[in-house]
Amino acid sequence: MKVIDVIKGEKPSLSFEVFPPKTDDKLESVLEATAEIAKLKPSYMSVTYGAGGGTSKYTTDIAVNLKNLGVTPIAHLSCISSTKADIKSKLTELKEKGIENILALRGDIPQGMSLDHLEYHYASELTKEIRDFGGFCIGGACYPENHPESPNSAADIESLKIKVESGCEYLTTQMFFDNNILYNFMYRLYRAGVNVPVVAGIMPVTNPAQIKRICSISQQALPQRFLRLVDRYGDNPKAMKQAGIAYATEQIIDLYANGLNAVHVYSMNKPDVAEAIQKNISEIIA
Ligand code: FAD
Repeated sequence: MKVIDVIKGEKPSLSFEVFPPKTDDKLESVLEATAEIAKLKPSYMSVTYGAGGGTSKYTTDIAVNLKNLGVTPIAHLSCISSTKADIKSKLTELKEKGIENILALRGDIPQGMSLDHLEYHYASELTKEIRDFGGFCIGGACYPENHPESPNSAADIESLKIKVESGCEYLTTQMFFDNNILYNFMYRLYRAGVNVPVVAGIMPVTNPAQIKRICSISQQALPQRFLRLVDRYGDNPKAMKQAGIAYATEQIIDLYANGLNAVHVYSMNKPDVAEAIQKNISEIIA
């Protein structure tokens, strides 16, 4: 099934993201966690590619496993460190294995990497190549608070426009913790004529390590309401988990209530977090 058909459907969609293991010995536990999340029968699930410490090695295998479990998978694919030949062989493999959905990404530029002789510079180049290859539903990433390399929001939106013209059918957002930021961003997209569906990416912050990471990479404005939770419960794992799930749930309900039809939860291979969120909104997405 193509994810664009799910997102454009009448029913609100709720999907989850998982990431491959860092090391081979962790594959089994990642597959188990993924299977547990799949039991929730989400609208679809995405599998990252070399992000957040995971490798790119198992993205396809995990996506195929999800498909076998009856859940529509998206395989992420990044291009910055790839050659055209690498991408062609990856697309051939994905097609042969029956994967129909790709999230086309540039990927972060590795520190110290020479930019000379790169075969890809932007996600839009990969997007166009996948479109020309044919047969895939293509999504892309977007950043309600601008991509860190963008000089300003106009330039960022301009690059999204190019991405969409290159074949990107929908955009999934970077995490954000204040829904007004997303609503403002969507207005800017609308003004610029970028009219593909937007899937809101929501991160339930459930432990101190995540908080540290978010603060270190953060372009994200962290609202006082969120920071107070972290101050109060950051040292109490069980309380932080409960508070983080409640915060994410509130964000999600507000998004659906304001007409957004698709929410993607960065569930970080945590079946219990995915389940708690789904339970909290079961009637809303029924
Ligand atoms: P691009 O869309 O190419 O944008 C990168 C920068 O270039 C932006 O500043 C943009 O404004 C600018 N730009 C784009 N096109 C042009 C142009 N034509 N001219 C001038 N400037 C331009 N990373 C992974 O490694 N693996 C993953 O699985 C992964 N999954 C992600 C999922 C989501 C939903 C999101 C939001 C991010 C994900 N990332 C992942 C991180 C992503 O790879 C990084 O944020 C990366 O730095 C940018 O990737 P992109 O695809 O957004 O790049």
